[in-house]
Amino acid sequence: MKILVLNSGSSSIKFQLREDHGGVVLSKGLIERIGEPLGAIIISTANGRKIRKELELPQHTVALQHFFELLPSPELQCLGSLKEIGAVGHRVVHGGEEYSDSVLIDDKAIATIDRLSSLAPLHNPPNLKGILACRELLPGVPQVAVFDTAFHQTMPPVAYMGALPRELYDKYKIRQYGFHGTSHRYVHQRARLLAGLEGQPSKIATAHLGNGCSITAIKDGKVIDTSMGFTPLGGLVMGTRPGDIDAALPCFLHDQGMECREIQHMLQKKSGLMGLSAGLSNDMRVLLEKSATNEYARLAVDVFCYRLKKYIGSYAAALGGLEVLAFTGGIGENAHPIRARACEGLEFLGIQIDPQRNAAGSGRETLISTDAARVKVYVIPTDEEYVIAEETLRLAGGNSRPAA
Ligand code: ADP
Repeated sequence: MKILVLNSGSSSIKFQLREDHGGVVLSKGLIERIGEPLGAIIISTANGRKIRKELELPQHTVALQHFFELLPSPELQCLGSLKEIGAVGHRVVHGGEEYSDSVLIDDKAIATIDRLSSLAPLHNPPNLKGILACRELLPGVPQVAVFDTAFHQTMPPVAYMGALPRELYDKYKIRQYGFHGTSHRYVHQRARLLAGLEGQPSKIATAHLGNGCSITAIKDGKVIDTSMGFTPLGGLVMGTRPGDIDAALPCFLHDQGMECREIQHMLQKKSGLMGLSAGLSNDMRVLLEKSATNEYARLAVDVFCYRLKKYIGSYAAALGGLEVLAFTGGIGENAHPIRARACEGLEFLGIQIDPQRNAAGSGRETLISTDAARVKVYVIPTDEEYVIAEETLRLAGGNSRPAA
């Protein structure tokens, strides 16, 4: 069965067409600049064919309509007709406390995802636009929502409750949710398999380090803590977001004359690596290259690694020991100096990186710890679309494979 995986953002939609239990990518690409004067649809296939078409894409339904006309093009040879699409899997950022699992989309699920937009105003509304457009354009094709928050729903209250007045939770559901759950789930599943711990008790930490960064502590297959919080601002230092900050800061800045909107913008777009490097870059490649000569770039890298190291240590404490640590995301998969720096000094926990394995281990599944180390450390490229395709097949395919 062929499954379309969609990740709908406010002005772009990323897609993959998969088959064979999610494992084979037939084509992938991007619909971009939706709502701008000139948009584009880019599709490339596993057999090396590619098309790129520039056209006006005023909104999501029109964009997907054009996309569905292009996808079965004979020149691509990845899909004979739209009828071959057996189901659509959507990445949805926020499933709140309602969803600890993926869901087959019906009117009730749509209403719930819409209601949860208050918790993820930048993400759930465009996710929903993609769902509604597919309902209209592919009537009768089952659709599944796979939530970024779902994997983290096993966290106990001791990890997810903030030390705030109780009524904030009761009234607004203010608590820690965690994000990147689909990636953590995939990487954890691979790490457990690689370490020979499938079905065994296990203490695993997965670090997803991309533009957004988060780390998750997973005990016996269940998340017990994760670093992102009520929104994806908390926890680790990120490309343009600060991670953990003192809660008094926004009010202090407001008192200094900054508007709420400006403060939000500063926390979303001008902080993290970008802020620490005094606006030089949020790109870790640039910062690593400049850190020999530029003190702000060096400090940005230092703070990034230090925060990460502290979280690894705290999650070893939360788990009562650590057996496996896995790195993923653009930085985690590719930046061996960052992996080395984050693990430096953690030998007392049993973490010991092999410098040769680490330097050679980028971009593919690799063990980068020494053979003598108590903790197995891996690089594991993430594959969120695989999980979304598998989940879609599980819920919509009438083909009951167990959850990943
Ligand atoms: P997103 O969270 O947007 O999906 P990615 O997972 O692609 O982002 O990660 C983007 C980050 O990965 C950037 O900071 C980029 O600099 C970093 N990155 C990608 N390749 C390398 C590399 N070879 N060395 C260091 N950093 C890298």
